[in-house]
Amino acid sequence: GSVMEKVLQRRSLRMRNMQRAWQESPEGKKMLDFRKSLPAFKENERLLQAIAQNQVIVISGETGCGKTTQLPQYILESEIESGRGAFCSIICTQPRRISAMAVAERVSAERGEPLGETVGYKVRLEGMKGKNTHLLFCTSGILLRRLLSDRNLNGITHVFVDEIHERGMNEDFLLIVLKDLLPRRRDLRLVLMSATLNAELFSNYFGGAPTIHIPDALNKSSFESYSPRARDSLSCWTPDCIGFNLIEAVLCHICRKERPGAVLVFMTGWEDISCLRDQLKAHPLLGDPNRVLLITCHGSMATSEQKLIFGRPPPNVRKVVLATNMAEASITINDVVFVVDCGKAKETSYDALNNTPCLLPSWISQASARQRRGRAGRVQPGECFHLYPRCVYHAFAEYQLPELLRTPLNSLCLQIKSLQVPSIGEFLSAALQPPEPLAVQNAIGFLTSIGALDDNENLTSLGKYLSILPVDPKLGKMLIMGAVFHCFDPVLTIVSGLSVRDPFLLPQDKKDLAGTAKSRFSAKDYSDHMALVRAYEGWKDAEREGSAYEYCWRNFLSAQTLQAIHSLRKQFNYILRDAGLVDADASINNKLSHNQSLVRAIICSGLFPGIASVVHRETSMSFKTMDDGQVLLYANSVNARYQTIPYPWLVFGEKVKVNTVFIRDSTGVSDSILILFGGSLNHGVQAGHLRMLEGYIDFFMDPSLVDCYLKLKEELNELIQK
Ligand code: ADP
Ligand code: MG
Repeated sequence: GSVMEKVLQRRSLRMRNMQRAWQESPEGKKMLDFRKSLPAFKENERLLQAIAQNQVIVISGETGCGKTTQLPQYILESEIESGRGAFCSIICTQPRRISAMAVAERVSAERGEPLGETVGYKVRLEGMKGKNTHLLFCTSGILLRRLLSDRNLNGITHVFVDEIHERGMNEDFLLIVLKDLLPRRRDLRLVLMSATLNAELFSNYFGGAPTIHIPDALNKSSFESYSPRARDSLSCWTPDCIGFNLIEAVLCHICRKERPGAVLVFMTGWEDISCLRDQLKAHPLLGDPNRVLLITCHGSMATSEQKLIFGRPPPNVRKVVLATNMAEASITINDVVFVVDCGKAKETSYDALNNTPCLLPSWISQASARQRRGRAGRVQPGECFHLYPRCVYHAFAEYQLPELLRTPLNSLCLQIKSLQVPSIGEFLSAALQPPEPLAVQNAIGFLTSIGALDDNENLTSLGKYLSILPVDPKLGKMLIMGAVFHCFDPVLTIVSGLSVRDPFLLPQDKKDLAGTAKSRFSAKDYSDHMALVRAYEGWKDAEREGSAYEYCWRNFLSAQTLQAIHSLRKQFNYILRDAGLVDADASINNKLSHNQSLVRAIICSGLFPGIASVVHRETSMSFKTMDDGQVLLYANSVNARYQTIPYPWLVFGEKVKVNTVFIRDSTGVSDSILILFGGSLNHGVQAGHLRMLEGYIDFFMDPSLVDCYLKLKEELNELIQK
């Protein structure tokens, strides 16, 4: 104990010396001057005092006032200055990985240190932190995962939960867990940070915690304009055509007539962004790289792309960033002078009655619109073009519905269960705004149907494995099944693809060509998932031959997405190896990778109960889900191009309501595959099959039944090949 204490004291002194040295250096002084100019600086003392006297405080202040980069840093600095640096451990959560990384990098720079020293970050599957890291920026998901193995957050002294105004599911979840933890950890300090003025809501949740508001000192004289006529905005904002021409016209105007400064365009989603980018690339002015630097911004950007976004463009080139609402609060692009706000966001909502997630562009909230406006003119007066009339703004909801109330709760419930919570329903009823009981029931039903929970709502051993994999439970199950059934490689590609994005591009004006290109990868597999595997493998070959660029171009594939899939594959591989599910010698887990039927079966085991029956009519086909609902195939699905499909079933990963209900990627499966691998759907099964099915379920309930599994696998394999 006391030896450790001495070591830490010595380290604290060293930290203090280094901090003082930096603050007295010329660059350090310059940095400090900048930091002192931020509105948050005036609240430094008040924050430290409040935190000394209260276990929980709530801080609000407009985006850019210095909450994220400054407040945790003030605590760190004051601890270091008082010679306790090595004893403190501060965690600050972010809703998105990109902001956790960007902010950690920024704070390190402000302290004149390399990233991963005193300040580090950790996001899903990636991180930069060391034994000297005392301020860690991480995603809220990472902190939740840590809570699974360390229920008391031992050793942590301060927790900041940032961007709580967004009401993300993980943040709401964290607040339940932390609220429960606080009485057990009287010394732990909790700071909630919000970019809007609804601090009261959170303060009440924590029994009247004190609130501090950081006044906005910047006095930005942002100029706002609304689209004058409803006709320009409303009527053309259908999901297919989201006023691209209007945006193009506004961008042209800015580039021709306005003063220098970057432009930030808020779009609804990745598809719109890439379509608009294609349209703008063809424009004589906006597509000219000598005049306009067009950057697209999305959640899984590579670091090199991130640099482009934050960096300065060459002289006389205007930076135009196309982004989704992720740029609303979590990232700050300093040189933005103009904001173009389309007024919509593709928001997931959840229809608990039909158990269907919906993804529809819908009007944003007033709070979001203000956020978007606030992104203009960080360093000089800015201007915001709202592409909707003022009367529409007044009709917006004040705040967005919390995510907990608008998404399926499958992953969340699995995580809650792994916190050893007896009743999921009871746990969730302690949320700031609890979800509907039906939504909770659906999630529990789903987890039971895939074998992650037993009938008494207890985690099975499959469930335990699934809760440690940082993917959607059904994809996690597919990964495990792929490893166990020795066809790991293709399954790894499929799961990585499904968790990144579809690498098959679908340009608005070349839909047919793109569809044809994709169907070349299908080779009568009747499977989008296997087409993905072939496309990925073709890309790897092309890369070896140095023709990856041509390959992507010819096949309408996104090199960026393939690259992301490639790195995710590596990371999943590593995690499964770590969990002991994959052998160090990968060839063992790939003995059966060439077996198409088996791969098909594993896809089915993961995607079940996402199945639709194929109903052939004289001239057409239709598809019916288990609850008898009609679904349509996405235009880009290989299965949409066939007249007939020689399989009675399609399994699919996602059912999305966009006007009608669509299924995105699908794979044809036979009756026997469905019987053997489709979870608990076992009507019409012969006795022998049923025994095998039970054996297979037993295996997951009790991992000691490995021998049984090995025999079973041989039998299954024979059966599938017949
Ligand atoms: P908040 O969390 O209140 O929105 P931040 O702490 O993220 O604000 O940012 C405070 C200020 O720090 C910003 O207004 C900006 O001037 C500056 N800043 C933040 N990130 C960076 C960065 N990556 N590079 C340069 N300056 C930055
Ligand atoms: Mg922030």
